[in-house]
This record gives sequence, C-alpha cells and structure tokens, in this order.
Amino acid sequence: MPPLTQNKQNREEKSSIFADFHIHSCFSYATSKDMIIPRISELSSKIGLDLIGTGDILHSKWIEHLSENLIRHEEGIYKFKGNHEILFIATGEIEDKESIHHLFFLPNIETGTELSLMFERRYNIDMNKYGGRPILPISADELVEIIHDYGGIIGPAHAFTPFKAIFRSNKYSSLKECYGDRADKIDFVELGLSANSQLADQISELWNYPYLSNSDSHSPNLGKMGRECNIIKMDTINYENVLMSLKGKGRNKIIKNVGLEPRLGKYHGSFCFKCRRRISYEDNPKKTFYENFIFFEQGNKKAIIEEIIKKKLRCPACTGLLKLGVKDRISSIATTSDVNMDRSKYCNIVPIPEILAVILKLKSANTKKVKIAYKEITLKLGSEYSILLDKPISEIKKVNLTLGNIIEKMRENKLEIIEGGGGIFGKLKIPPSQQE
Ligand SMILES: [Zn+2]
Ligand SMILES: [Zn+2]
Repeated sequence: MPPLTQNKQNREEKSSIFADFHIHSCFSYATSKDMIIPRISELSSKIGLDLIGTGDILHSKWIEHLSENLIRHEEGIYKFKGNHEILFIATGEIEDKESIHHLFFLPNIETGTELSLMFERRYNIDMNKYGGRPILPISADELVEIIHDYGGIIGPAHAFTPFKAIFRSNKYSSLKECYGDRADKIDFVELGLSANSQLADQISELWNYPYLSNSDSHSPNLGKMGRECNIIKMDTINYENVLMSLKGKGRNKIIKNVGLEPRLGKYHGSFCFKCRRRISYEDNPKKTFYENFIFFEQGNKKAIIEEIIKKKLRCPACTGLLKLGVKDRISSIATTSDVNMDRSKYCNIVPIPEILAVILKLKSANTKKVKIAYKEITLKLGSEYSILLDKPISEIKKVNLTLGNIIEKMRENKLEIIEGGGGIFGKLKIPPSQQE
C-alpha cells in the first residue's frame, strides 16, 4: 500500500492524531540543511506522526518554501504535496527581551507573513537576521496580546530548561511573574525534553494549563523528530479544533503526552557550567568528583540546591559555577506534592534508534547499522509509535528479544538510566541478563 493512503487510513483507524508542534527549519541556527518539508514528511510518515508544526513561521524564506511544498487541506491546516499524507499547522518561536522562548500557533501561513512584516516595521529589524527564531525587544505579556490579536495561541517553550526558558534558575518561579496579568491568558505550557507532566505538576499553578510535549527537533533524523508528541482526539483536523483540543473542550482533547524519558534529557540533572560534569547525589559518596560526575551527599540535596541558586557552591573539580538542571530547578520552586488526577497520561519513551544503538553497542543512534535495524523492525512491526506504545510485548520479543524487554520495562517506568545533564543526553543501561 503506498504511504499516501496508509497514513490516512491509520488516522481513521486510530481516531486520534499524533502531533509534534515544535520543530525548526533549515533556516534556523544549528539546524540540518535537510529540515525541509519533503524530508520532514517522509520521516514523520515513518515514525507515525500525522500533524507537524511548521516552526519558524516568521522567516520569509521558510514561508516561501512552505508555499511551494504545501497545499491547503482544511482551515489552517496544510498537506504536503508529495507522496506522504502529512499535515502541517503554522507555528513558530520568539525570544523576548528577557531571553525567554515562547511557542505560538497562527491561524494560517499568511498570518505568519503579516505578523513578520508588522514586527519588521515596528522594530526596524530584518526578521531573518536571527535565523528562524527572532529575538525581539518585546515583553512576554505584550507578546501574548499580539499573538492573540492575530488569532494565535501562545505559551512558554521548553519551560524548565536552564537556558532561554521561563523557569530557568534565577529567573521566574511562576507564570504570573513573567506574564503578569496575562498569565491567565496563556494557552499551554511546553514541557521540554528533560521534564514530564509529573515533574511539572509539582508547581500547582501549572495544573490549570494543558501541557504540550514537542520534539523541538533541529534535524530530520530518527530519534530526534517525534521523540516527543501529543496524541489528540479530534473529529476533523482544522485550526479551530486544534485550539479546542488544547482547551479540552467538547469532543476534542489531548489524550496523551508522549515524551523522552526525562532522565535521558540533556538538561535533566544539575551540572558545572565550566567542565560540564553532572551532579550525582549519592549516599556516602566515595569521591567528590570523577570523569563526568560531581558527587554530593543525597541527604544534603536541599541545601546544595539552595547554595547553587545563591552561587555560593563551586565545582569541586574545576571551581566553575554550578547550574541547576530541570529536576533540581523544579524541586526548588515546587509548591505541591499532590498528584494531578485530571492530567492526561504522560508516556515516558526512549526512541527506538536510541535503544538499538545501546543494543548494538554503538555510540550514536545516527549510524547506518541502526538505520538498517530500525527499518527491519518497523517493517515487521509497524510504525515506531505503534511499537513503543501499543504492540503486545510478546510480538516485539519475537522480533527482537532485548528490544521487547526494554520496551516492557519502559512501559512500566522501570528503566535503569544514567541521567543526562549539562548538555549531555542520558544513557540507557541494559543489565547483562537482558542482553541477547
Ligand atoms: Zn527554544
Ligand atoms: Zn567543573
């Protein structure tokens, strides 16, 4: 069956769509030149994604590329012209004057052009100057007003990462501090790779907002795009229904967030800003530091976090400044330990290429061997998401025993992981008994 009908059919069978609203185009900094619509569509089809945020919707050259490659599908929704039934919605990211990133959606691509021209005139800047993510001398609350005036929706991007995020250390500890009276008007909070719903719900203020889990991918590589997504129940895929689903109104709603197991995230743990060693809290640590780690006593954790915030504690290895990772930052501003029972389920996942790299004892998932193994497995078992989330474990084990064992543990949230931090992704541990 050609991919064109396959995706559409899958969507109808699932009656829910898999959406990744935050990516960056080839025009953004530090992105792959392959971040173009045909490649993004091809990869999305492989992974099992249906709806993708265009990203970079204020960049004129990206808008040109979108116009050449997409056709209108439904109100505010576009379809790739080529051989993959992948849908797109206009999204982008802006950095405000406090260096906070905000993710926004717009009703259509034309609005992207209008808004970009408005900013260009207003601030007298070349909107393509900063790649796909413009840096504007604008406050967060004013940005909210403007995006709403243009019919869009907006929320803080990767809210807890140590850089360029609303809740980063020594910045804000509530939405209200950042958005002022417009905090109530925020439409969602994007979690980012190193957090999940359970971590974020430790801040009770956030209980009132829907969470988005997006990949923020910079390359169309397996394991990057789609490493996070939102599973949404929607009757007809159009702009209005996407908005309604975030509000959880009517029959449209986010039914699951799927995201990278947060301990694998590269900003999960606290770290030294200079030597990038990660902090590991242990009972009776034998050393103060080692190759990639700094060790602190588990019992002193609270005090250590406070010292780091006050910049009083230095790295024992290099005397560099220590920085809070996502986990410690959240615990430092946490306001509740209650469980939010209304929150939709969050599935912690490990992308299959990452699992295969570990099984094959390879350093990188972006290798030929992994690609071959991935192709073989997805041919036998279906799309990546269906394997990670739905396929009976016994079927996966028949094809690859170790993969089946790992996915089984992953679904039970029992994976053993060396936590990531300081810009270095975490690592999956496979007990010797699990290896084939
Ligand atoms: Zn960002
Ligand atoms: Zn250091």
